[in-house]
Amino acid sequence: MLYLDNAATTPVRREVLEAMWPFLTATFGNPSSHHTVGEAAAGALADARRRIAAVLGTRAGDLVFTSGGTEADNLAVKGIALAALEAGTGRHLVTSPIEHEAVAESVAYLRRFHGFEVTVLPVDGTGLIDPAELESALRPDTALVTVMTANNEIGTVQPIRALGAIARSHGVPIHTDAVQAAGWLDLGLDSLGVDALSLSGHKLGAPKGVGLLAVRGALPLEPVLHGGGQERGRRSGTENVAAAVGLATALELAESERADAARRVSALRDDFIARVQHAVPSAVLTGHPIERLPGIASFCFPGTSGEAVLLELEQRGVVSSSGSACAAGSDEPSAVLLAIGIAPEVAQTAVRFSFSSTVTEADIAGAAAAVPLAVAAVSGLRQA
Ligand code: PLP
Repeated sequence: MLYLDNAATTPVRREVLEAMWPFLTATFGNPSSHHTVGEAAAGALADARRRIAAVLGTRAGDLVFTSGGTEADNLAVKGIALAALEAGTGRHLVTSPIEHEAVAESVAYLRRFHGFEVTVLPVDGTGLIDPAELESALRPDTALVTVMTANNEIGTVQPIRALGAIARSHGVPIHTDAVQAAGWLDLGLDSLGVDALSLSGHKLGAPKGVGLLAVRGALPLEPVLHGGGQERGRRSGTENVAAAVGLATALELAESERADAARRVSALRDDFIARVQHAVPSAVLTGHPIERLPGIASFCFPGTSGEAVLLELEQRGVVSSSGSACAAGSDEPSAVLLAIGIAPEVAQTAVRFSFSSTVTEADIAGAAAAVPLAVAAVSGLRQA
């Protein structure tokens, strides 16, 4: 079986599991406990925090471990916005129409329950935001700009550095959901020029159910989870020490392999795209042709049904997805595809192939051979 759905999730890496094991067994303490067993766990947590901070170029105290990307996004968007509301400094948010639901629904919640006004920046047909649009959207009462680093369905990579420079020149904090960018792009907060960044472990070889929010220390953040005051009061709940160690290990490994992986997989992805477009001339590549994640190739196959193509692909040993895992199986066309101007009936024909850093030439050739057969089986058309 050829698993080409790595943007949905990845297997836990052996090195990650091995790094976690001691903290699930011998060193099992609660890091808040004031005895040697607890202190050993607290030490492991602090070490994981330091290692992650080194990758992100931030201070260890700026990291908040969460239960995943969804919680990190909720904490960033709600936490920064509600702190601004309380301080009386803002009640306006700026976002994009192609954010993951974790951001989009957090913004919707703030609008509905706290009266925030929202400006949604337009995207072009490739999913890119024009930084000039941000310049004109900012207001004196803008509490937060939240724009994802790279899109999970079409792979388009935003000009986050330019967007960050504009937001910050107006004194407005900027958060980015970097969940899909992990392992492919430089996630340094200074390199990206952002104030807050969300990550999820299971997209880069750590387990599901762990993630983090990096947020610059000076930025006021209202907690979303209340309780025992862990994570400097920003996220209550006993820390998942083993998962934090796993996340640190996965992130370090991904960072050390990143440059080579990005170069190699980008070339394979381009080869795959070319093969698919040659074999299925009607295929529509979605997303930006160049500014896209190395691991994502996404198409619409007009005249088919995306779900039916997926089934045909799976029968030929290729596992892929119709877009985001959340939207899979739903009858609604993807909001991301509609936002980039794809007609609803074409959006229903979307298929996303997402590669890991270990994808091979043989994988690409095998998948590319299966695509025209699957499309032909669904559409009844004969392919060359
Ligand atoms: N943000 C993006 C861009 C994602 O792709 C995902 C997961 O698909 C998430 C957030 C949510 O992360 P998690 O599954 O860890 O909650």
